[in-house]
Amino acid sequence: MKRRDFLKLAGAVSLTGCATPAPSKARVVVVGGGFGGATAAKYIRMWDPKIDVVLVERDPAFISCPISNLVLAGFTGMDDITRSIDGLERHGVRVVRDEAVGIDPNKKTVRLSRGGEIGYERLVVSPGIDFTFGDLQGYEQAMQAGRVLHAWKAGPQTVALRRQLTEMRDGGVYVLSIPLAPYRCPPGPYERVSMVAAYFKQAKPRSKVLVLDANPDVTSKGPLFKRAWSELYPGIIEYRGNSRAVGVDGNSMSVRLEVEDVKGDVLNVVPPHRAADVAAKAGLITTNNRWCDVDWRTMESKAVKGVHVLGDATLSAPAMPKSASMANNHAKIAAAAIVDALNGREPQPLKIINTCYSFVSQNEAIRVSSVHQWEPGQGTLIAVKGAGGVSAARSEAEATFAWNWARTIWADSLA
Ligand SMILES: Cc1cc2nc3c(=O)[nH]c(=O)nc-3n(C[C@H](O)[C@H](O)[C@H](O)COP(=O)(O)OP(=O)(O)OC[C@H]3O[C@@H](n4cnc5c(N)ncnc54)[C@H](O)[C@@H]3O)c2cc1C
Repeated sequence: MKRRDFLKLAGAVSLTGCATPAPSKARVVVVGGGFGGATAAKYIRMWDPKIDVVLVERDPAFISCPISNLVLAGFTGMDDITRSIDGLERHGVRVVRDEAVGIDPNKKTVRLSRGGEIGYERLVVSPGIDFTFGDLQGYEQAMQAGRVLHAWKAGPQTVALRRQLTEMRDGGVYVLSIPLAPYRCPPGPYERVSMVAAYFKQAKPRSKVLVLDANPDVTSKGPLFKRAWSELYPGIIEYRGNSRAVGVDGNSMSVRLEVEDVKGDVLNVVPPHRAADVAAKAGLITTNNRWCDVDWRTMESKAVKGVHVLGDATLSAPAMPKSASMANNHAKIAAAAIVDALNGREPQPLKIINTCYSFVSQNEAIRVSSVHQWEPGQGTLIAVKGAGGVSAARSEAEATFAWNWARTIWADSLA
């Protein structure tokens, strides 16, 4: 029997309701096959092929949030941002397509929605975010009726928002509501503003983009975004800071702010986030009922030993964005620490780099980058002064780099 067939058989056993037999070698289970989880699974196998790695992912394919704003403008398609996670099997990762519905850190098992449990020696949890819909009165009702979208997890909502934009009358108003930071991808909403404005400029020039930002000002690359908006899209974008949404009314198509209601033709309201449900169920959330604090030398949870939390679900270190770039780097810290721990070695802190590109038009982009290193005195990763920075100006060269960055991180995480 080929190794691949054996792994598939072992996967089937775990789904029938029986516990998977104890591994003859150390097993790491990874929950979530996004930027953090897929990278961790792959790198653990690359750095120690003796370790058995099982990845649990509920979605049939990986759909990238980075570049998804370009889909809204019609500059690229869903196929371009969709990747298979089967490439991980080439590294010997066993992919189980199921939802993790429970974690028992005492028994060291992960429970699957279709039945069965998988035992682990170390667990990696990189489930991304879920939304605190309850913070916005009427949101869930309006979302179920198709009257409001977040499109802040790439997938069906990305397609639905693109459709709403194409069906909107020329002269209509697209409203984007941005939650208070921290949220996933600080520059992401402003890239979205730029992409929708670029689409309106081409296809519906009498239409408007109204930005209701709960934050006092643009939270990332502010001067570069504002310059692009005034030079490329004059009269199309209206930006309002300190405008926190508290509710949505799908009947009157309005976003409720603290002091007034604002009407729109397309409502794109991004609710506040927290670590995804499975992290809450596993007792990994430590802070403000929202985020999971970790030891930044190993990504091990401060609440549950033997469990490593990655990506957007973490309580961010100072000046650290919630980004694919960071999730991919968190994964490498965790993979190195787990391989060390399972081989009886002391894990060493790593220095990591963040790079976030944002498109401001079809062919031009801007960038921000930062370097984060372990600071023993503060017991966390801190941004290295003088390292990183932002682009001098928007450019076509940065747009080429942005596409290259995306293709590289997709391959680094999944292929
Ligand atoms: C519009 C937009 C644009 C962005 N652009 C950029 C960018 O240009 N650059 C950048 O660096 N970042 C960008 N980001 C941010 C980036 O997408 C996230 O930071 C990144 O996806 C976080 O990785 P993660 O592994 O934490 O979560 P995710 O990538 O969301 O992965 C989580 C995975 O876990 C799975 N999962 C969750 N719960 C379970 C469960 N119980 N059982 C099984 N599977 C489960 C999910 O299905 C998902 O596949 C952008 C985000 C948005 C919304």
